[in-house]
Amino acid sequence: MAKITLKNLRHSYLPSPKGAEDYALKEIDLDWQDGGAYALLGPSGCGKSTLLNIISGLLTPSEGRILFDDVDVTDLPPDQRNIAQVFQFPVIYDTMTVRDNLAFPLRNRGVAEARITERVAEIAAMLEVVELLDIRASHLSPDNKQKISMGRGLVRDDVNVVMFDEPLTVIDPHLKWKLRSKLKELHQRVKATMIYVTHDQTEALTFADQVVVMQDGEIVQIGTPVELFERPQHTFVGHFIGSPGMNVLDATEAGGRVSFEGQEIAVEGKVTGQGGSTQVGIRPEFVSIGAAGLPARVRKVSDIGRHSVVEAMVGDTPVRAVIDGEAPGQGDAVHLAFRPDQTRLYRDGWLSTETDGAVAS
Ligand code: ADP
Ligand code: MG
Repeated sequence: MAKITLKNLRHSYLPSPKGAEDYALKEIDLDWQDGGAYALLGPSGCGKSTLLNIISGLLTPSEGRILFDDVDVTDLPPDQRNIAQVFQFPVIYDTMTVRDNLAFPLRNRGVAEARITERVAEIAAMLEVVELLDIRASHLSPDNKQKISMGRGLVRDDVNVVMFDEPLTVIDPHLKWKLRSKLKELHQRVKATMIYVTHDQTEALTFADQVVVMQDGEIVQIGTPVELFERPQHTFVGHFIGSPGMNVLDATEAGGRVSFEGQEIAVEGKVTGQGGSTQVGIRPEFVSIGAAGLPARVRKVSDIGRHSVVEAMVGDTPVRAVIDGEAPGQGDAVHLAFRPDQTRLYRDGWLSTETDGAVAS
């Protein structure tokens, strides 16, 4: 297994790129520790597959270097990088049995038959496909085809990294959660460095210890699921993670005092920087409805299991609150309170408040 380092990586699909908008990857610097479980999360088109293909060697970056365990591999072809990659759609041989499909990456490398038998049995057991081993792959359901495709990615024990590029896209929703937890379990057992690419926050947050959030060819934040939830470094992360996402409210700031809809708001810690367009970010989980606070009128109430999401208008701005217990009715006049230690100021999208270092809770 290996530590992965990406240094000043940039990539453009154009022959002579000019401005930043010509780059699918703008400037990527990253260190991935050996044995970690990482997710690459971002909306479609943000550059996730481009980054993965650069790591595996399918694509040569326009600029920058890739290192495995501090050894430069930028000029090595994919088969010399010792990487397993699982794609969005199953890559298997239809005419072979499941057993032969799983054995293929090992036979290809001249692994002894006894070891192959052992390894295939192990992987089949992990993926719960033992009873499928002698079936021809063409007879498999799409779900099972993808499972086998994943198995082919996991069967070698000498790979540096296993990478999954949106592998659950073709999987039935009711099977998704099962495979998702299976992958997490596999990581704990296999201990390979794993990179899981997805646009789905639930997949990323359940799989990874560290999530890399990308937007528009750039990394906006790297953090644990808790860090991404509690202190989004950018309003994009606030929006993208959480359900519903963070309230991002237009605000004004002068001399460290922050106002929203004409009323002063307490924000966490110290306001840093100055100028720029300012916004207040507060997660719906930290907005409460009570006797005091910002006067608001309830526009919509929706049930989400044990909680309700209340959407209330403060002046012209909708604010969402996640409420336990009894929710107000539509049209009710209420007061909204923001928990100060969870209320953040953003300037031009970037976090602009700081505490003494500790994550507020
Ligand atoms: P993601 O995997 O996050 O959906 P991609 O890495 O596939 O994003 O794409 C990033 C950007 O690069 C997109 O704007 C996409 O249109 C562009 N792109 C991807 N592959 C190619 C290609 N082979 N040629 C030209 N542009 C591409
Ligand atoms: Mg992609």
